[in-house]
Amino acid sequence: MIDLSGLAGVNVDVLGLGRTGLAAARALAAGGARVRVWDDGAKARAAAAAEGFATAESVGDPPAEMLVMSPGIPHTHPRPHPAAARAKASDINILGDVELLWRAANASRYVGITGTNGKSTTTALVGHVLERAGRRVAVGGNLGTAVLSLPHLGGEGTYVLELSSYQLELMPTAALDVAVLLNVSPDHLDRHGGMDGYVAAKATIFQGGDARPGAVAVIGADDDWSDAVRAQIAARGGRRVVPISVVRPVSGGVHAADGMLVDDTGGRATAVVDLRTLPALPGRHNWQNACAAFAACRALGVDADAVVAGLRSFAGLAHRQQTVATVDGVRFVNDSKATNADAADKALACYDDVFWIVGGRPKEGGLNGLEPHMPRIRRAFLIGEATEAFATWLDGRAPFERSGGLDTATRAAFAAARASGRPDPVVLLSPACASFDQFPDFEARGAAFAAIVARIAEAAR
Ligand code: ADP
Repeated sequence: MIDLSGLAGVNVDVLGLGRTGLAAARALAAGGARVRVWDDGAKARAAAAAEGFATAESVGDPPAEMLVMSPGIPHTHPRPHPAAARAKASDINILGDVELLWRAANASRYVGITGTNGKSTTTALVGHVLERAGRRVAVGGNLGTAVLSLPHLGGEGTYVLELSSYQLELMPTAALDVAVLLNVSPDHLDRHGGMDGYVAAKATIFQGGDARPGAVAVIGADDDWSDAVRAQIAARGGRRVVPISVVRPVSGGVHAADGMLVDDTGGRATAVVDLRTLPALPGRHNWQNACAAFAACRALGVDADAVVAGLRSFAGLAHRQQTVATVDGVRFVNDSKATNADAADKALACYDDVFWIVGGRPKEGGLNGLEPHMPRIRRAFLIGEATEAFATWLDGRAPFERSGGLDTATRAAFAAARASGRPDPVVLLSPACASFDQFPDFEARGAAFAAIVARIAEAAR
């Protein structure tokens, strides 16, 4: 747990009692702060009360000296939570857990990773490479462990943090040694008041570079939004900028237009590793993650060979194009994490004969943008609330059927794939939708898929 004794005696309100909020309340209390907590959900409140925390609906009234908010709670758009509005009106600092970590453990080094897609993969990858290279690291944030539950590393340690745009909005002063912006595409716009707000939130990851000697910005150059941020940060100075591209060579950057990772950061372009040979990082989108991880780890002084060894030994993350089984020549791929069309697009690009399980609670834009993959969709199996909208969209583009739920869809997809006579048919769960209509979260959806596949494999034995 992070030592927050610097806040001993301070009155702190904690709003939101999920994983990060509870971890914050615990670390604050252990450090001697006077903590009040609140969550609009009765269950979360009861859990905190059972741990001895004082719950107060009036959190922020009268205001404490500091309001620690969970990233999941709106503090601006679409409308601020009443406690956030009260704190703002009385000029109280509204902070997130990453800001508290950074203030309390300032001697450590920080790598932060954001972007619309690929954050978790790249965060895990950087953590893995650094660990394998013998560094003392702690990995957390949006991915895995809440940051205030991480071990307190000293000056020799490096925190590798996945940062959502919501978290970035709650860290007003934290300055990172290596900050990574992978890509930007429209997502979560409701919470940021439109694209400008979303991009601005992402760009705060590069703040305060002047405060960290040798600070580096690793920025994707393949979409217009992140490329605009790249130009802006380069013009502002304070950080060396390393551009990343998987579509063209970028001078001074790291690129992999044809799958070969080329390091051009040292004034001479050097071919480093063929990314097509890395088992757990399939597809061009993963090349982007690998290039960014390479640049980040090099910026921290890990030598190129050690980074390559780490890329090679990376096992991949669950629910992200994870092959869960192959039964009778049919490969089952769990890409439950693909909760929008952009993420599904990446997975669909990787396979030739796709039996596609798609649907859930649709996002704005639905399946738009996925048209180029339709010739390789042998059949789509529709699930969840999106069924009718997606049926309309698919009509005339690819064969489909309405499956209702995941179990029916998986079994039907397996039967069709097995009967197809194709050499490497893939049953792909890449839903392009949120899971909340049928599952608690994308992890539960992916786990359910894996369990259904396990039963199919058992029956096929
Ligand atoms: P995040 O944490 O940003 O949501 P993940 O690493 O969990 O990202 O990957 C989520 C999904 O996004 C994956 O299933 C994959 O299909 C897709 N994806 C991964 N990396 C990228 C990338 N660099 N660009 C676009 N899509 C990606």
